[in-house]
Amino acid sequence: MSIDGAIYPCPLCLGTNLNSFSHWVSLNDGMKEIPKVQCRACHCEASVQAWSTRKPVPPAAWLLVEALRADEAHSVTLFCDNPDFNMGPDSAVEVCGDYTDWSERRFEGDNLTAALMAAYLAKTGGTVSPEIADALKREAR
Ligand SMILES: [Zn+2]
Repeated sequence: MSIDGAIYPCPLCLGTNLNSFSHWVSLNDGMKEIPKVQCRACHCEASVQAWSTRKPVPPAAWLLVEALRADEAHSVTLFCDNPDFNMGPDSAVEVCGDYTDWSERRFEGDNLTAALMAAYLAKTGGTVSPEIADALKREAR
């Protein structure tokens, strides 16, 4: 069998190096073939049916943007990366919400995710949702 192009990349590592194989199970009415997919990069596997319903996980930066604008009237401004080679950080965001007393507050970082993360930590007081922690861990690899 072959893997058709409609199958998503690995949801864990985003790898596209996938191996398809058949898993045979013994049922009351005989042996049944279950087509499966395994990621060669991280070795996770699932049936083709389950795999095709897996959705790629959004990048951490997007999860952070969603968290920062989740509450009514809260806003996030993403600035262009710093183009010149000065000593300043490369990325900056400005956020506004109850945690900034409704005034624009600027956060900076080495990249957009880091700048968003600084703002997010200010908003949550240091707690990180499991979804965002997972996304950061995945991208750090
Ligand atoms: Zn994988």
